Amino acid sequence: MARVVVVGAGLAGLCSALALADFAHDVTVLESGPAPGGQLRYGPQPFTLPAVLRDLFRKTGRPLERELDVVPVDPAARWVFADGAEVAVPNASPSGTRRALDEAFGRGAGAQWDAVVAHGDRAWRALRPLVLGHAGAKPAPSGGTLRDVATSLREPRLRTALESYATRFGADPATAPAALTVLPYLEQTFGVWTAELAQLIDVLAGRAAERGATFRYEAPVTGPALDGKRLTGVTLAAGGTVDADAVVWTAPPGGLADDRRGPFRRRLDHAEPEPGQVRTVVTEAHTQPAPTPQIRFPADGGPATITYDTADGRVQHVAPTAVHGAAAGRVTAIFQRPANVTRVRGLYLAGAGAHPGPGIALVAESAAIVTDHIGRA
Ligand SMILES: Cc1cc2nc3c(=O)[nH]c(=O)nc-3n(C[C@H](O)[C@H](O)[C@H](O)COP(=O)(O)OP(=O)(O)OC[C@H]3O[C@@H](n4cnc5c(N)ncnc54)[C@H](O)[C@@H]3O)c2cc1C
Repeated sequence: MARVVVVGAGLAGLCSALALADFAHDVTVLESGPAPGGQLRYGPQPFTLPAVLRDLFRKTGRPLERELDVVPVDPAARWVFADGAEVAVPNASPSGTRRALDEAFGRGAGAQWDAVVAHGDRAWRALRPLVLGHAGAKPAPSGGTLRDVATSLREPRLRTALESYATRFGADPATAPAALTVLPYLEQTFGVWTAELAQLIDVLAGRAAERGATFRYEAPVTGPALDGKRLTGVTLAAGGTVDADAVVWTAPPGGLADDRRGPFRRRLDHAEPEPGQVRTVVTEAHTQPAPTPQIRFPADGGPATITYDTADGRVQHVAPTAVHGAAAGRVTAIFQRPANVTRVRGLYLAGAGAHPGPGIALVAESAAIVTDHIGRA
């Protein structure tokens, strides 16, 4: 059994703690805040690729569906254009989407969007092995920019809709990779899902504790503790250290970048999204499953606003930097996140700031990658 410290009790920390405790390690979670959940405490947050969470639940006990109501968001989105046109995009239904687009924009519009989804399918086949199950950041695939794909569409409103897959993340379609077509592909192929996130937090933390993980709240960590190049644990802001054989760092990794002891091959890049691409974020703590998001495209081609009409009122959130981690605005950012395995033996990175990136599915995947590396006790 190894002593493992997990820094942060957001989704990455909870998934790592659960999987590693299930592998019979002695796990301590150190969280700077008073409660678990991190960014999951805000919402609504629909997600794709539920298989990643399903896999964690299946491996560690009762299946996901027995613990949590995971339901499709249907329609997956309601697109609202500046000229008043609206499209309800059905969930996980390429034929339904084709029909809805033909109805809204005239015959042939659906086929244009099919071409986008087919592009996403090809991109996903190339990216999947890099994104899921790979521990290292990878070079950006070739294939031009999202704008290149958008300009191949005859229907201007479809161009706007496609480019929003960059602008909603604070990225510029003129520099964002064409491979972002993966996002509409994943939505249409595997669906958009929702669950009560507060319940997800409770289930993950509860199951990790049942497997023996210990949680310490209001325990901010300042960094890894090293003896020369050897990892010995972590240092606490309040003073003192917690000894560990392995550390899973799920807090933003930027603070580690300036560490001259050099756990990283290169400086971690924390570029801000490009100016003008990001709007104010209004979020509220939220416990209900996500309703259909309304995606409103402004006339000036600026970033779309995403709103949810919830039981608690209208909630809007648009591309905060924290959501999408480092350097969302640059073309290669999503392929240049720091790797999960660092140069310091026993020090691992998981979470939105590390490979493969932000969002519920990818963050849970980062925890799975780290767990595979650490292995069973
Ligand atoms: C408003 C909003 C909307 C979103 N919408 C979606 C969506 O629709 N779909 C989707 O898939 N994803 C969405 N996301 C993104 C998703 O929630 C995040 O990518 C994911 O929850 C990040 O999990 P994490 O564990 O990597 O990071 P976090 O949740 O940030 O967890 C990190 C934890 O570490 C703690 N911590 C930080 N520093 C320290 C330290 N020094 N010592 C100890 N603890 C520390 C923090 O307090 C926090 O609890 C959204 C996020 C937000 C905020």
